[in-house]
Amino acid sequence: MDRQKVILVMIDALGDAAARAQCGYLMGLVEAGQARLWRMQAVLPSLSLPAYTSLHSGTAPAEHGLVSNDLQAMAPAPHVFSVVREAGGVTAAVAERLYALLFNAAPFDDVEHLDVTDGPGWVTHGRFYTEVRHTRFNPSMPGDHDICNSATLLLRRHAPDYLLVHSAAADAVGHAFGADSFEYRHQVWNMDNELALAIPVWRAAGYRVLVTSDHGMSAEGRHGGAEADMRPVPFWDICGPEICGSDGGEREGTVSQLAVAPTILKIMGLPIPQSMRTPPLV
Ligand SMILES: [Zn+2]
Repeated sequence: MDRQKVILVMIDALGDAAARAQCGYLMGLVEAGQARLWRMQAVLPSLSLPAYTSLHSGTAPAEHGLVSNDLQAMAPAPHVFSVVREAGGVTAAVAERLYALLFNAAPFDDVEHLDVTDGPGWVTHGRFYTEVRHTRFNPSMPGDHDICNSATLLLRRHAPDYLLVHSAAADAVGHAFGADSFEYRHQVWNMDNELALAIPVWRAAGYRVLVTSDHGMSAEGRHGGAEADMRPVPFWDICGPEICGSDGGEREGTVSQLAVAPTILKIMGLPIPQSMRTPPLV
């Protein structure tokens, strides 16, 4: 498949305000006109499984049916992974196990589904992790350094057309300490700092990099509803000077999270299914 390749970085539970305040690398790209930044409204319920599905299907939870984290089933196609695969492309992911469950096989097998190479599911090459038995003092997370380097390794070995990179630590830390805490703010900055190291490598390999989140996080450490800090998330398009031209910078207003899936497919030059009714951002 000879198309523009895309990496979607999903920083779990990264609210829009925290993103703009803490992500110095990404905001520096926006300020220099090398990236575009939208304020994006997350779907309802503002939960992981519903939003992971909506980010890839372009449909609302009320429509795709995965309306609770307790409903652990595969995401109905079409979605970004299925469209890329059916066009003959290769997909990959470094992500929390819910992504394996949604796009490869349900239920998730803690051993067999943890590491997939040339698998038959929608995610061709997957490096998955779990949060099993996490605590306040041990979130049981892989480090962001390892997540980004695993993504770089997948890219070197398999050159996937679409690669999802998912860091879930801000969600775990946010639940433990709340969004108005040193711990949450530092974790958000930490991932931004890892992206400062990884994004130049990924862009040099020819990838267009998009960065967003599934939902925000409240000061008391919750999400799921429509409180002020639960729905607004950032969406960055690291287009670079060659594509952004004089069109980089921050965008006015708020766009829908349902625009992410068609935006990815539009950048890749792939057909956008009729079920994705929200216009792409680019
Ligand atoms: Zn959460």
